[in-house]
Amino acid sequence: MRSQIQQRLDTVRARIRQAEAAAGRCPGSVRLIAVSKTQPADAIAAAYYYGQREFGENYVQEALAKQEKLAHYDIGWHFIGPIQSNKTKLIAARFSWVHSVDRFKIAERLSDQRPKELPPLNVCIQVNVSGEATKSGVALEELKGLVEAIAELPRLRVRGLMTIPAPTDAIDLQRASFRNLRQAAERLDGFGLDTLSMGMSDDLEAAVLEGSTMVRVGSALFGPRPRRDTAVFDAEGAPHH
Ligand SMILES: *Cc1c(COP(=O)(O)O)cnc(C)c1O
Repeated sequence: MRSQIQQRLDTVRARIRQAEAAAGRCPGSVRLIAVSKTQPADAIAAAYYYGQREFGENYVQEALAKQEKLAHYDIGWHFIGPIQSNKTKLIAARFSWVHSVDRFKIAERLSDQRPKELPPLNVCIQVNVSGEATKSGVALEELKGLVEAIAELPRLRVRGLMTIPAPTDAIDLQRASFRNLRQAAERLDGFGLDTLSMGMSDDLEAAVLEGSTMVRVGSALFGPRPRRDTAVFDAEGAPHH
């Protein structure tokens, strides 16, 4: 009998393959980032066992605790959450990708703090394509200036753009947001961008149809998340055991 995580991985992989085919894209052109926030290290280990190698985390202390437990696993760690400036040092040292850069100050700290023995940190610039005042992400009008500035930082490699659009069930609206991000990336030719980080559990098909190269999928792989304020975390944000 297949375990639940194996079934869910198969299902999500099939959804990605189908969307790639529908878009006329090569199989394997979209990378699956398993978003493991609020999930225990055991859940990551189970997904790893079925071949998943890249994981996304939103909370630094929680991520570090899991990284320590899984230190002997060959995992690519992606930081995808909001970044506080007092956390940049840990993020720069412990992740190979950061998807949520939306301010120069944060990018500069990440570059300064990236350890010399590691390759440059891969970053995506988070863009607010829906224009909501409350959402994180740089406004489309300010994107080019920010990318130009960040591209000069020696220890970062700007790989592409990321977005979390306003949720909607209408696939046309989902696609319109993702198309905005793709077109913004196309206007940035000359920066060598190769990554569009877009699409989550409920909208990955729309994202793949619009050119996503990385989907960030949590609940479709690990099941519904406990709300963070009710999850079992200690004061430092590390999971209890
Ligand atoms: C939680 C989260 C996801 C995954 O969301 P699901 O709807 O559970 O797939 C993706 N991206 C970011 C930035 C997230 O915070």
